[in-house]
Amino acid sequence: MKRDHVPVPAPSSRFLRVECSECNEVQVVYSHASTHVTCNSCGNALATPTGSTAQIHGTPVDPSASA
Ligand SMILES: [Zn+2]
Repeated sequence: MKRDHVPVPAPSSRFLRVECSECNEVQVVYSHASTHVTCNSCGNALATPTGSTAQIHGTPVDPSASA
């Protein structure tokens, strides 16, 4: 049995680069993180889990932009 072309499913979740509002440390945070994500440097909360997309507390950094 042959199937027609099946498009590659595109996930709505992705990894975000978030800059800590306290110490400006940039950390990678999963957009649908199910656990609290804290800054590695100062322990500031970066993401809080919700029902779906995690709430991001820092400043999202565009990954395509040069650091
Ligand atoms: Zn920090």
